[in-house]
Amino acid sequence: MIYYLSLGSNTGDRRFYMREALDFLGCIGQIKRVSSLYSTSPVGMPAGTGMFLNQAVILDSPEEPGDLLIKVKEFERRMGRDPENSHYTDRTIDIDILMAGNLIINSKRLTIPHPEMTRRAFVLVPLVEIAPDLSHPIFGKSLSLLLFELSSSERIKKAGL
Ligand code: ADP
Ligand code: MG
Repeated sequence: MIYYLSLGSNTGDRRFYMREALDFLGCIGQIKRVSSLYSTSPVGMPAGTGMFLNQAVILDSPEEPGDLLIKVKEFERRMGRDPENSHYTDRTIDIDILMAGNLIINSKRLTIPHPEMTRRAFVLVPLVEIAPDLSHPIFGKSLSLLLFELSSSERIKKAGL
């Protein structure tokens, strides 16, 4: 299964956590593409929340989507994320499953494609860098067109080395 993932970190040594995430993903599949690192302003988080690093990854993995989610959640916990209090709070690392091939999943634990992906420039900009022509299985449009159609005021720039 080809997975399209979004990585984000906004607290602690963010680059360290992003590297750890790539190491972890490399252990559960074959990493096909990795986007640049982007520095992005927090969206929907309390005032004063730190800037994010965001990155998109294409992963070829034999894991089923539900098993991948379990492993991702385990990894996030290992990186110090509090599973009881994770939404809209600072995160050492967040890994979201954006797409899984052409699959559409609507279960209690997992929604694929990720419902927010087309509303968030901080997700689409890194993903479009590595998969511009990928067609969204619900909207039937390429990701680059969906990004073009998203008029967003988010501040997103490539993070320097
Ligand atoms: P955030 O929305 O900030 O990413 P979490 O990482 O804590 O918050 O995720 C909350 C829950 O979202 C997870 O426990 C998971 O069950 C659910 N979820 C649903 N769809 C997805 C998906 N496509 N990728 C990742 N998590 C998902
Ligand atoms: Mg998440």
